[in-house]
Amino acid sequence: MPCPGATPLVIWPLALWLTITTACLTLAVVHAHVWFRNRRAVANAAFAVLAVSVAALGYTELRIVRATTVAEYGRWIWHLQLPVWSALVAIVWFVRHYLHAGRPWLGWTAIALRTVALVVNAFSSSGIIFLEIVSVEPVTILGEPFAVAQGVPNPWMALAHLSLLFLILFVADAVRDLWRRGERRRAITIGGSIVVFITVGTMTAALSFWGVARIPLVVMLLFIPIVVAMSFELSRDLIRSARLAADLDVKTGELRESEQKLALAADAANAGLWSIDNTTGRLWATPRALDMFALAHDREHGLDDVLRLIHPDDQDRVRAFAEGAPGRGDTPASIEYRVVDAGGAVRWYASHGRTQDSGAPGRMGLMGVTIDITDRKRAEDETASQRVELEHLARVATVTELSGALAHELNQPLAIIMSNAEAAQQLLERSPPDLSEIRAILGDIVAADERAGEVIRRLRNLLKRGEPNRQPLLLNEVVRDVVQFMRADLVRRGVVVKLALAADLPPVLADRVPLEQVLLNIVGNACDAMAGNAFGDRVIGIATGTAAGMVSLRIHDAGCGLPAEPERVFAPFFTTKEQGLGLGLAICRSIISMHAGKLWAEPNADRGATFHLSLPIVTGAQ
Ligand code: ADP
Repeated sequence: MPCPGATPLVIWPLALWLTITTACLTLAVVHAHVWFRNRRAVANAAFAVLAVSVAALGYTELRIVRATTVAEYGRWIWHLQLPVWSALVAIVWFVRHYLHAGRPWLGWTAIALRTVALVVNAFSSSGIIFLEIVSVEPVTILGEPFAVAQGVPNPWMALAHLSLLFLILFVADAVRDLWRRGERRRAITIGGSIVVFITVGTMTAALSFWGVARIPLVVMLLFIPIVVAMSFELSRDLIRSARLAADLDVKTGELRESEQKLALAADAANAGLWSIDNTTGRLWATPRALDMFALAHDREHGLDDVLRLIHPDDQDRVRAFAEGAPGRGDTPASIEYRVVDAGGAVRWYASHGRTQDSGAPGRMGLMGVTIDITDRKRAEDETASQRVELEHLARVATVTELSGALAHELNQPLAIIMSNAEAAQQLLERSPPDLSEIRAILGDIVAADERAGEVIRRLRNLLKRGEPNRQPLLLNEVVRDVVQFMRADLVRRGVVVKLALAADLPPVLADRVPLEQVLLNIVGNACDAMAGNAFGDRVIGIATGTAAGMVSLRIHDAGCGLPAEPERVFAPFFTTKEQGLGLGLAICRSIISMHAGKLWAEPNADRGATFHLSLPIVTGAQ
């Protein structure tokens, strides 16, 4: 029956309702698409359901407020329950999945009550709102008529209100959770808007349906702030996702570039890169690495495919390396091994690996780099054989040098023996022979012979690297002994030795025989240097003294003098003598060095040379 004065509205309410419905449907399509592309975006699906529900709500409400008859109003108010139900379910769903807040039982109670209300509505011919609609009358708002019904309220309507009350409690509880978690913006935008506008909507509907006030049905308008708040939050997420996706693109590009650079560097270094997943045993390798192990590029491979090529003697080591944790515990970070190719040729490879922790429990891997070191190994082998050859040559050279030194050192006692023997022969030819002089000469011969034996023994000791026999010695005594020992030789050569020995000279720690050899050598050289001088002009001065914690000795001659660079006389094999070996002074210097002393030569201001020798004073002897 048409109601008097009820005229269908046409202008702004229609435009507003249509705009909002279109906007809601558009949002629903967008977010349904997001969910379709990513099934884990459950909140987007919930929002899409809510937006469709609000659009359906809007359409139904539009039909209700435009209703001109009781029957028409009653039909559309009956239809209204379905979008309200789906909107409520969508809100609970969204809050649980997007905000992860609110006690579930509150949400479930709201849904259950609303479902019962829906069922009651479905089985009641007049719907859950009214038992009977008496009249439908227009209320003018902003110049437009909105239909408002007058009727007998259905008591079951309380069930619908109760479901909304539980929804409000559920969302308020979620707001409290969010607030505690510090997510205050979301608590205000989403939670606040739901609580406020559902409360307002419930109250206006209750006032209208229970006949307390004549308010047209505008529930859809109250859903709009909720939709906007949810959409705002989801859009922020979408924008953030888009930004992350853009960042990811950039990072992926950089990663690809760095991978390419790495592969380029690896190729340039002739290195193969690889990684093994210890859980699956699967191998990833660059083309170069696959080639190195003769593996096909178009198939998947495992560790066993690689091990097949390893030399049988090296297989256990390589397996332990690949299955262990290189660099940790007993497993080395690098390994060198042999690979046998199809033709039976052996190549040497070196692999350097690092344990790769994927982060997943029990999932460990190994990544590394392998290079072909066959050439290096060959070079090492060659170097090793060359070293052996070199050591052999060095031994030969040492033997030669030592035999030279031996000959040189024996030369002096032999020369002394010879000159003494000649002197003895001359004395024997006299009549009567001077037996006491001959006895003295024979004594000198025996002494020289003993010295020769001593030299040989010492050289042998030197070769054996035996412990030196060092003891505190008074250098003045050593000088006197040497001069005494050389007496016959000095006489024969017409050389006079003048001693200037310092009194109370502190002792030095030295091996007597080598030290005597040094003095013998230097004095013998001085004699040689003066061989061209006239008899009576062959004088050697030997002086001792102390200076700066050392005992010093100077052997001064008037001979032919030193070369332009005096140091050369200490170089092995430097000699100016026809029969010389050039080893005496080199050996002398090494003997003095072994005693922590110094030996050097200086030219004299007028002529000849002076040899300086210094040895440390025995500690505590001063
Ligand atoms: P050798 O006596 O077998 O030549 P040395 O090492 O003892 O070997 O001496 C090396 C060289 O140093 C001698 O050949 C000589 O030329 C030079 N030399 C050594 N002592 C003197 C010296 N007092 N005066 C001049 N030259 C010397």
